[in-house]
Amino acid sequence: MTMLNTLTIADARAKLASKEVTSRELTEACLSAIDGAAALNAVVTVTAEKALAMADAADARIASGEADAMTGIPVGVKDLFCVEGVASQSGSKILDGFVPPYESTVTAKLWDAGAVCLGKLNQDEFGMGSATEYSVFGPTVSPWRKEGSEAKLTAGGSSGGSAAAIAADLALGATGTDTGGSIRQPAALTGTVGLRPTYGRCSRWGIIAYASSLDQAGPMTKTVRDAAIMLGAMAGHDAKDSTSADMPVPDFEAALTGDIRGKKIGIPREYRLDGLSDTISAEWDRGAQMLRDAGAEVVDISLPHAQHALPTYYIIAPAEASSNLSRYDGVRYGHRAKLAAGDGITDMYEKTRAEGFGPEVQRRVMLGAYVLSAGFYDAYYRKAQRVRTLIRQDFEAAFNDGIDAILTPATPSPAFEMGKAAEMSPVEMYLNDVFTVTLNLAGLPGISVPSGLSADGLPLGLQLIGKPWEEGELLNTALAVERAAGFDAKAAKWW
Ligand code: GLN
Repeated sequence: MTMLNTLTIADARAKLASKEVTSRELTEACLSAIDGAAALNAVVTVTAEKALAMADAADARIASGEADAMTGIPVGVKDLFCVEGVASQSGSKILDGFVPPYESTVTAKLWDAGAVCLGKLNQDEFGMGSATEYSVFGPTVSPWRKEGSEAKLTAGGSSGGSAAAIAADLALGATGTDTGGSIRQPAALTGTVGLRPTYGRCSRWGIIAYASSLDQAGPMTKTVRDAAIMLGAMAGHDAKDSTSADMPVPDFEAALTGDIRGKKIGIPREYRLDGLSDTISAEWDRGAQMLRDAGAEVVDISLPHAQHALPTYYIIAPAEASSNLSRYDGVRYGHRAKLAAGDGITDMYEKTRAEGFGPEVQRRVMLGAYVLSAGFYDAYYRKAQRVRTLIRQDFEAAFNDGIDAILTPATPSPAFEMGKAAEMSPVEMYLNDVFTVTLNLAGLPGISVPSGLSADGLPLGLQLIGKPWEEGELLNTALAVERAAGFDAKAAKWW
C-alpha cells in the first residue's frame, strides 16, 4: 500500500471520498513522517493533538456528506501565518513567545474547508532570505542531494520549510508567502510546485508582514492540480484586508484541461542574462519546446525594464519592511531585552531590536530607513516607485499584444550548498531572486513547475507568469508543462 503521506491532495481526496482512508490515517502518516524528519528542520512546531482533533472532525464531516475539496487534507503552515493558540514568530527571535489570539484569514479559510493543521514550517526571518538559513530555528535542509554527494543543500527560501516538507512528503500541501519569490524559488529547488497568486487574491490579514505591497500567500504542493485545489480554499475577499480583491473565486481546478493549443507564450529576451548557466538556459529552451509541442505559439518578447527589477525590489521591499518592523519595540509582544539600572526607553528599544533581529533583518531595516530618509527619498524610494510602474506597464503591453503567459527560468541555478548564506555577500544572495521579483513588483501571478533534473540529479524549475486574475489559465499552462516534463523524481531518503 502507498504510504499515505506520499499521496497528492487530489488522490487523498478521492480516497477519503471513497472511504478507502480516513483523515486520521492520513494525518497520522504525516505526523510520523514529521517525527522521522528532524534532520531536515522543516517543521518548527508540531501541533499533533490539534491535528488529530481536526482529522476526527473532518472524518465526521466526510461521513455526513459535507466534505469540501480540502476536507481531511493535512497541511503545514509557514510560520508567519498567525494560527490561534499556536506559536507564530515568522522565524524571528523578536517574536519569541508570541502566541496569536487570532487566526489569519488564509488559515481560517483552510480550516473552514476542513483541512488539518500539522504545524508550523521553517522560514527565513520575516521572509527575508533565499535559503532558510536566517531563521531563529536554524536552517532547513533540503531532502535532495547531488548524486554521489552527502553535502547538505539548501531548500531555498524564504518558504524553505514548506518546500522541504512537501518534497519529503511530510505534508500533502503547505502554505507559503511570496514577496519576491519565496514560494517559487524554494519550489524550484525542491522539485515541487509553488504558486504565487495575483496580489490581492488571498487576504494578508494575520500574516506577519514583510513588505505589504508585495506580500501574497499561495499554495506549495506536489502537483499543479493540488495547487489549484488548495488555492481555491485559500483565496477570497476579506473585509479585514483592504487590498484583498472583491471578486469571485473561480473554480481553478475546472480550468485544468491541459489544452493550450493556440495560446501565445512570450519568452522575454531581457531574462537571458549574461553568464546564465548552460543548465538553466537549456532547461528554458526545453520548456519552450514542450509548450510548442503542446500546440502553443512561442514568441520572443521584450520587457525592457525587467533588468531594473532586482535593484527596484531591494529598495521597495526594505523600505516597507523598515516601516512594518517598527512595531517590534519590546513593549507590546515578543522578546524584550534585559535592561540595566538607569536604562531608559530608548535603551530598551535599541537593546531589544539589536537582540531580537538577526543580521539580515537589521540590514534591511537600515537599508529601508535610508532610502526613506528625507535626503534620499527622491533619489531612491520615489525613483524605485517610478521604475515599478514602468515594469508593470511592460507586462501590460505584452498582455495587450496577445501574450497569454510568459516563460522564464525560476532560479539562476539548482540548489546550492548550505552555509552559503554565511559565505555569500548579501548582494550575491539577492541575485537568487533575479527571475522572481519582477512579477511581484507588477502584482502578477506566477508559478514554478518542476521540469527536469540537472546533470548531477537536482531538480530544475520553470517559471510561468500569468495575466492578473487568470490563475486558472496560468495553472492550465503549468499543467501542460507538468505533463510534458513528466517529472516524477523524488529525493532518495537519507534523513
Ligand atoms: N528572497 C527574497 C527576499 O529576501 C524574497 C523573499 C520573499 O519572497 N519573502 O526578499
